[in-house]
Amino acid sequence: MRLETLAVHAGRKPDPATGAVVPPLHLSTTFLRGEDGSFPHGYIYIRSGNPNRQALEECLKTLEGGSSAITFSSGMAAIMTTFQALSPGDQVLVADDAYYGVGQLLRTHFIPWGLKVNFVDMTDPARVQEALSDETKLVWIETPSNPLLKITDIRHISDLAHQAGAKVVVDGTWTTPVLQRPLELGADLVMHSSTKYFGGHSDLMGGVLIAREDTSFVKQIRTLQINGGAVPSPFDCWLTLRGIQTLPYRMRVHSENAEKIAYFLYTHPAVEQVHYPGLPGHPGHGIATRQMKQFGGMMSIQVKGGAEAAMAVAAKVKIFTRATSLGGTESLIEHRASIEGPQTRTPQNLLRLSIGLEHVEDLIEDLNQALSS
Ligand SMILES: *Cc1c(COP(=O)(O)O)cnc(C)c1O
Repeated sequence: MRLETLAVHAGRKPDPATGAVVPPLHLSTTFLRGEDGSFPHGYIYIRSGNPNRQALEECLKTLEGGSSAITFSSGMAAIMTTFQALSPGDQVLVADDAYYGVGQLLRTHFIPWGLKVNFVDMTDPARVQEALSDETKLVWIETPSNPLLKITDIRHISDLAHQAGAKVVVDGTWTTPVLQRPLELGADLVMHSSTKYFGGHSDLMGGVLIAREDTSFVKQIRTLQINGGAVPSPFDCWLTLRGIQTLPYRMRVHSENAEKIAYFLYTHPAVEQVHYPGLPGHPGHGIATRQMKQFGGMMSIQVKGGAEAAMAVAAKVKIFTRATSLGGTESLIEHRASIEGPQTRTPQNLLRLSIGLEHVEDLIEDLNQALSS
């Protein structure tokens, strides 16, 4: 079956008890034992399992083409649990332009705990090769990266990592399985913040790891998660499964709108640079064309005139909403450096745009008035 059909049906079936076509929300924290003391429905207690969570995991596993999926209370919980499944002394290579929270988490908690972390420019395979060692256990890729939309060749880096005996995780939040399929390109695990495109309506929080094979490392992650309780609520799972039904169609329009806006901004006199892998001049355009179906709804721009000019544009937009996050139906604009804080390496004149599902001409007119006045 094709992705559009799977998005509607995977993990969903009419409720056998009532015939309800839409899956019921199960809020019960505890489940009945059978006469022999067993758990006939497979559920014991909410932290270890819940029907809405299981349905969502079934759906995500199917969409991504993996053998198992583990859903979490947030994207960061999925990331944290992955690193917790390693041991002090292990080495990990992390994309130097990965989501800001990843670097924060590693610097404040995991490096003091004993993890050896190398932040590497993954757009350059030679640097990855140089940083790999016998101690490397994990290579953490994010492509397109955040916020500069750098493109990493998933297949090439996965080959290098595997030759060194390391596993590969790809943060696929910005692409979803609709636009990019890391497991088919050689990655071992895909991670998503489902707070973004899977949910799709800016009203839930969640994360997921999908594994190509259910290895002992993956089992270790699941055990850690259940023991520690980094699990999603039934309602967040229900909302995510609801959102996923329209995911393929939303991703298509996010990408089409973003591509048109990128071309518009590219020639705008107030714009210094547009970072969007769909533009032929983008350094990762060739690889992105090979490994992505479309180029996604995220971009960043550098405006002429520095931080003040960038802040002024963010203040003048009327349809774009000035807020952090991404992946909802509404377009968002954000000055990244000021939210990331003083340690940031993000250019001060950079604005990150999450292109929503409004009419593209309205979005272009809005950006034009904000940039021109
Ligand atoms: C938002 C985001 C995360 C973190 O997810 P949360 O659900 O906010 O914890 C990780 N990676 C990327 C690329 C993100 O956009």
